[in-house]
Amino acid sequence: MYNLDNIKAPAGKMLIGSSWVSAQSGETLAVENPANGDIFAQIASGSALEVDLAVKSARAAFESIEWSRMRPLDRSRLLEQVALKLEQHADELALLESYDNGKPKHLALMVDVPTAVEVFRYMAGWCTKIYGKTLPVSGDGSRYHAYTIRQPVGVIGAITPWNYPLPMAAWKVASAMAAGCTVVLKPSEITSLTTLRMAELMLDAGVPPGVLNVVTGKGETVGEALITHLDVNKIAFTGSTPVGKHILRTSANDLKRVSLELGGKSPTIIMPDANLEKAIPDAAMAIFFNSGQTCFAGSRLLCHDSVYDEVIAGIKEVAKNLPIGHGQAAETMIGPVVNKKQKDRIENYIRIGQEEGAEAISANSKIPEQGYFVAPTILSGVSPDSRVFNEEIFGPVLTATKFKTEDEAIALANQSCFGLGANLYCRDGQASHRMASAINAGTVWVNSYFVLDPAMPFGGFKQSGIGREVGEDGVLMFTESKSVCMSLES
Ligand code: NAP
Ligand code: MG
Repeated sequence: MYNLDNIKAPAGKMLIGSSWVSAQSGETLAVENPANGDIFAQIASGSALEVDLAVKSARAAFESIEWSRMRPLDRSRLLEQVALKLEQHADELALLESYDNGKPKHLALMVDVPTAVEVFRYMAGWCTKIYGKTLPVSGDGSRYHAYTIRQPVGVIGAITPWNYPLPMAAWKVASAMAAGCTVVLKPSEITSLTTLRMAELMLDAGVPPGVLNVVTGKGETVGEALITHLDVNKIAFTGSTPVGKHILRTSANDLKRVSLELGGKSPTIIMPDANLEKAIPDAAMAIFFNSGQTCFAGSRLLCHDSVYDEVIAGIKEVAKNLPIGHGQAAETMIGPVVNKKQKDRIENYIRIGQEEGAEAISANSKIPEQGYFVAPTILSGVSPDSRVFNEEIFGPVLTATKFKTEDEAIALANQSCFGLGANLYCRDGQASHRMASAINAGTVWVNSYFVLDPAMPFGGFKQSGIGREVGEDGVLMFTESKSVCMSLES
């Protein structure tokens, strides 16, 4: 069943320039399959030493004639080649992610790999469209010609999480490369394999050595060395809010540019006129997909009083029919969560929810004995003052709370320190627009959920982050704007 013969991850090596190197300390970290606890690979446990070498390699590539003078059209063609290469290896990448992260392979093939492929293809178009402006200078304007140019920020330190390793790495690398930057990428120590394989495929696609370097290892060593390195110009981070805050504080030392994609507690709001045939399965999948390990998961159901019972019963029914199992089985919809730490954390939150007075409805009791599985769970009757309403659980756990009016729904939606996404189910067009405007979140999906598109800037309000990835905003955040002012008189 677990056949790794087709998987080629550069075992125990990191990419610095064109070389695959082991950690100089010789240390490695075990890679565990969350479906059964098997150790099936090793990654290098890098240190500040390898980070420094990787930054030097990225700096040299940034300044090289080959990269810095590459015509935008040729950079565009290169990103297209990367997209093609990843697409050709889609099956292998999905399988590798399934082993490493636990997620169902067929869902990785449907979501993770295409998201990565498409951002390279989309960003290929931006290489040739990064414009400055001509500026109508006031005052003595007739004597000056002024314009802006957009230049690449420089060397990027990219740090990614374990829930969608390949898309998060691809979003950062594709956008940074489109802008002309070079990258040192540190994937989560829990799921580094698809990132390493992506880097290998990018070299095969013709990406010049040093444009992408990957240093694997622990957050507190490799991550810390990257965020404190004085020759890194910008950190692009996706991960937890506490680490994001630490990065922001650390960046004050040398005023590194920082963009942060952090946690969330996104609401799914069901209005009384919603089409429940759509809203119910969507609300279920908005939380249970990827075992709830999605930063913008619809983890708080806010449901109108008049349809609450029907919606809860419906979500329970959907969840009951989601097969739980290891990620290589074609029928699996719910894989394991990523490790024991997460499983314990999620189960603890279910207990806390019950202690706080919620009813825990477990939708599926057929849980495999081995591995880190958690059944989809609804916590019904959750009070807005409770911990489970306010804290990110990051597992297949939906809190459910009733409301009576539109204003109450908006107030509950906004009662959060986060503001990443919101799913709104409503047939009334005017109410939809009113609510989309009033909800404090980076993305509001109306009668839809989980639509990520490389053209749609993504990011958070409040403690869900700073900056927007992908889309025009996403490429421009890897540039600096320079004003040039030229006298027209000699
Ligand atoms: P995490 O603990 O913050 O880790 C994220 C990354 O930061 C990992 O690569 C981690 O390395 C690294 N890291 C840890 N400590 C560091 C330090 N001191 N300096 C620099 N880097 C450090 O988050 P996670 O547990 O992997 O991911 C789950 C969280 O990410 C959730 O809160 C989720 O909501 C959020 N998330 C947000 C988005 C978004 O787009 N907004 C997307 C996905 C996930 P190690 O793994 O090696 O420790
Ligand atoms: Mg793993």
